[in-house]
Amino acid sequence: MRFVLGKREEDGRYPVTVDDAPAGTVHRRHGSWYATVPGHRNNKRFGTRFDAAAFLVELTDSGIRPTIPAPAHTPAPAPGTDSLDSAAGRRATRTYLHLVPDLRLTLPNLVRAVEAMARLTQLGWEPLEGYPGADQPWRMECRLCGWQGRRFWSHLRGRNGDRMPRPVTRHPGCIPVKEMPAALLALAAERTRNCPCEGEATHPTTTSDALDVLGAIGDALESGSTMYATLYARAILEPCPASTLRADLLRHAYTLRSN
Ligand SMILES: [Zn+2]
Ligand SMILES: [Zn+2]
Repeated sequence: MRFVLGKREEDGRYPVTVDDAPAGTVHRRHGSWYATVPGHRNNKRFGTRFDAAAFLVELTDSGIRPTIPAPAHTPAPAPGTDSLDSAAGRRATRTYLHLVPDLRLTLPNLVRAVEAMARLTQLGWEPLEGYPGADQPWRMECRLCGWQGRRFWSHLRGRNGDRMPRPVTRHPGCIPVKEMPAALLALAAERTRNCPCEGEATHPTTTSDALDVLGAIGDALESGSTMYATLYARAILEPCPASTLRADLLRHAYTLRSN
């Protein structure tokens, strides 16, 4: 089976993923089931939610996928950053659904997750699942040696604002502590202040982009659609070499919205 039906949302729709990617929603009206792909029209009726979800597989195979609205402000590609064959670029094209935070989907939680993931990258870790909160084990990969396991964000972010990750040895069996600074410096070279990613979603690189994407996610959450909120969150959750800048901009935009 290629589709997975999600939990019913407040607006009565069930999000459906096909091959792990958001494909649309199904809902019941006047005794029939309908399949909806955001941005595409169809009025086909089905007897069960499963038949409707199976239709989303057909639509996906014919190239019909949810349309992600482009932010009003699209930054011009920065010169000299078209290195999509780089490791960073390849990571940037991976799916992002596994990075949706394992917390209630709210703007503050999303911004916190984006900040934690950006800092994690600086510390040479790659998250393997969505941010679970500071005091829950978080599965990640050590980029210095490839070890995979669980660490606590409350230990990695430092204590009382000192930003010193603990323990210094990272995890049992990592490279020698004295080699770590050089290894982290080598990884730092992957990070940029420009977004070189070419995908369906534009990763915010200006305050205006960040406000746009938070606005879109906020509207979706307000209307009770986790499915749309998750789709729009792609722009902020996907790995991006400019993740540090993105986290700063999102925090700034979030503060502007709250004032
Ligand atoms: Zn390691
Ligand atoms: Zn990017």
